[in-house]
Formats: sequence, structure tokens, C-alpha cells
Amino acid sequence: MTKYPFRLLFHSFSADSHADPFYDISLPMLLELLKTIRSCDLGFLPIISIDDGFLSSFEIAKQLRYASYDVELFMITSRIGSSGFLGVEQLMELHSLGVEIGSHTHTHKNLSTVDFHTLVSELYQSLRCLQEIFPQKNSFSLSLPYGGFTPMVLDYSLTCYSSILSSSPFPIPFCPNLVPRFPVHSRTSVTSVLSYLRGSPLPLFKLRFLSTFLLRLVLADSCYRSFKSLVLRTNSLDIV
Ligand SMILES: [Zn+2]
Repeated sequence: MTKYPFRLLFHSFSADSHADPFYDISLPMLLELLKTIRSCDLGFLPIISIDDGFLSSFEIAKQLRYASYDVELFMITSRIGSSGFLGVEQLMELHSLGVEIGSHTHTHKNLSTVDFHTLVSELYQSLRCLQEIFPQKNSFSLSLPYGGFTPMVLDYSLTCYSSILSSSPFPIPFCPNLVPRFPVHSRTSVTSVLSYLRGSPLPLFKLRFLSTFLLRLVLADSCYRSFKSLVLRTNSLDIV
């Protein structure tokens, strides 16, 4: 079966105290979804993207690899080995099975709301943790917590990560480096997942996502450009 870069985004698969209450989906729901995807014979399998690194991701990621899915797992690196989250040994086992391990920042902050110092710290501390576990791996991807970003966050993240993944299913016109993912949660219908995988328009859904992102980006972009031009002006005055 040919693969195509459509990504489905998941978080946790058990209703325990460590699960994400909104995004948690049950195992029967996941199996039903995957069975339907297979039976539709789309001609490709979606990439399964899992955020946060909850313990329940371990068995699911393994089984998905055995079933020929490409799987990527994004860790909140400060949580590695803590209660309810995957530990180093498990990450190494998943990596050996072909699961792509990436960063979900160090402490899961919304990067669109933090100051520059915190942004640098979140990105670099997380990268260092992953490099210590996988010294032979020379690049990592970043999944944005809460899907939050600004043009500066994207610019800066790309200096230390090879790609940046959003929580929106649609590409953003002037952010070609942002990789879309379709978030699946407990109320997501199988029909909407299939519509997405078939490339159906989903007009209202798409409009809602795009309008929010575009508004946020236009505002953030104009602030960022003003900031940049101010810095340039200040520098040139210094030179004069
Ligand atoms: Zn998250």
C-alpha cells in the first residue's frame, strides 16, 4: 500500500488519570477507525502522529508499527520517565521499531505566549534531552504544544529542528514549513477523518481553522515585522 503524508494526530488511549481528558480516545474507537480506513482502500495509510508521550502510547505505537503504519511520537522531554509517561528504555525500543521520536518542547508551554528567553530554553533543553538519548540521530522534528506559534516561533524553531508540526489539518498559505495534522479526539467522527483523508473540502470546518490561524498570523506577523524593523533602525543608528 502506498503511503501519503496525511497525518492523524492522537494524544492518549486510556481513560486513566494521566490521559488527556479531551483528546483521549478508547482502544475500541481507535481500532474501529483504523479498520474503516483500511477497508476504504484509500491507496495509502496516514502517518500516525502522537503527542505528549503518555504511557498508553507505548503498546499502541508498537502495534501500529507491526501493522505497517508510519508512527511519530513527540515527547514533553521534562516528563520522560515520570509517572504516567514513557521512559528512556521505552523510547529506545520504539525507535528501534522505526517510530520517529521528536520534541513537544521541554515543559509543554504554548510557544505563542512565551518570551524569547523561555522560547529558547523550551526548544534547546528539549533538543539536548533527545540528543542525549539518541546521540546517533542528527535531526529531530518539533510538534507545537496547543498548536501555538508566531512567525518568530517558526523562524527560531527551524534553526534547531528539521520540521515543525501544527495541530491544524490544513496548510497555512504563508507558512510552507508548518506540517498539517488532523487532530482526532473522542468526538471526532469516522466520517470526518475519512473526508480529510480523501481530500474532501469540509468547507465550514476548514473556514473555521483557517480564519483563526490567518487572523492570529496576520496580527503576529505585523508585530514581528515592526519589531524587526525597529531592531534594524536601532542598529543602523548605532552604526551612524
Ligand atoms: Zn501536547
